[in-house]
Amino acid sequence: MKAILDHVGIAVKDLSAALAFYRDALGLEIEAPEEVASQRVRAHFIPVGESSLELLEATAADSAIARFVDKRGPGLHHITLRVDDIHAALAQLKQRGATLIDEAPRPGAERSLVAFVHPSSAHGVLVELKQVVTSHEAGSGSREPRAASHISRYTLGDLELVSLFDGFFQLDGGAMFGVVPKPLWAKQTVPDEKNRILLAMRPLVVRGVRTMLIDAGLGGKDDRKFHDIYGVDRSRNLDHTLAEAGLRREDIDIVLATHLHFDHAGGFTTRDASGRVRPAFPRAQYVVRRGEWDDACHANERTRASYLVDNFIPLADAGVLQLVDDDQTIMPGVKVRRTGGHTMHHQMAIIESGGQTAAFVADLLPTTAHLPEPWILGYDLYPMDTLASKKAFYKEAIEKNTLVFFEHDPVVAAGYIREEQGKRRVLPARPGS
Ligand SMILES: [Zn+2]
Ligand SMILES: [Zn+2]
Repeated sequence: MKAILDHVGIAVKDLSAALAFYRDALGLEIEAPEEVASQRVRAHFIPVGESSLELLEATAADSAIARFVDKRGPGLHHITLRVDDIHAALAQLKQRGATLIDEAPRPGAERSLVAFVHPSSAHGVLVELKQVVTSHEAGSGSREPRAASHISRYTLGDLELVSLFDGFFQLDGGAMFGVVPKPLWAKQTVPDEKNRILLAMRPLVVRGVRTMLIDAGLGGKDDRKFHDIYGVDRSRNLDHTLAEAGLRREDIDIVLATHLHFDHAGGFTTRDASGRVRPAFPRAQYVVRRGEWDDACHANERTRASYLVDNFIPLADAGVLQLVDDDQTIMPGVKVRRTGGHTMHHQMAIIESGGQTAAFVADLLPTTAHLPEPWILGYDLYPMDTLASKKAFYKEAIEKNTLVFFEHDPVVAAGYIREEQGKRRVLPARPGS
């Protein structure tokens, strides 16, 4: 295994005292801090040559860094080694009898996968392994830029696909995996102490003869209480990533909804200075499936919490709503297809150009961890329909080598489904291809 020293983590109790030493006395430059919401930690990186020092500041009393400082005082917390293939590295360590804190990699800062090795196996040092996953720099050997980009671009025939980002939120791990027992799903994705798992929101832009946005994330209308319940972190959001993609809100011609749940449709509308809620994309027509629209407008006791009327009723009021009744082409290269399952009229977008296919599958396959057929959201209203749609989709995606977008995966924006010796896996796609 080849490894590069990525950084040395130092747990800090009093950030200003630490800055007085590292920044002022040593004269080192400190980068803008990064929040790792899932760890309740703020990381301040100090580049030193090819590696960095990382000052770790707890943002909550229950964070691992706070507990570490309470127990042992501030000081050396971990070293991080960057590896090319973290799965292979973990397998090798396991085979040699090393004690692993993380049996499976989990999402870290800067779009990386990380896993910790127990200090008892590393002679008293906590060792973190890290693999950079979707960076443009991945595999090129150059240093990962600290201000990691949150968008990834792909070319599909004549179309450009840009995966955007509207931040993270957290949902109950049990609800995210339905009937799957926790000992199984917790190996794939590590929950926090409230049993929540980290999810991203990744709307997709399709640029062709027109510019389409598929889903729009959570948006910015919700209050503090809502953000607490759902562990929302929108410190990087759709405004930032649209700008990164070189787009203004008025550049969007069509907004397409896979369905109207708040984590997909929240960004459809915005509250202006006068408090009025209006369409967030001033020139866009909003395309919604009629059955989904009707169900959202007539929510029941089970579905009400997911359908927030401010996200969609203002579209009808503004006259920008276009309801479609069945599977059809929405713009050249982009078709909608009903999957059902998650909601009765949940739909995915199938994108085709130059003989290549991509699919924006939304909550049919929200993360790469949902790949096994029975790993179905507990939220799904018709799980047996999800099962049937997944089976049909996998067959087609493997045959056509479809580029699949994972709207809620915290790390992998897009990938290909591979089947080898009856076993399926997701091969993350390198942006640009
Ligand atoms: Zn949903
Ligand atoms: Zn969702």
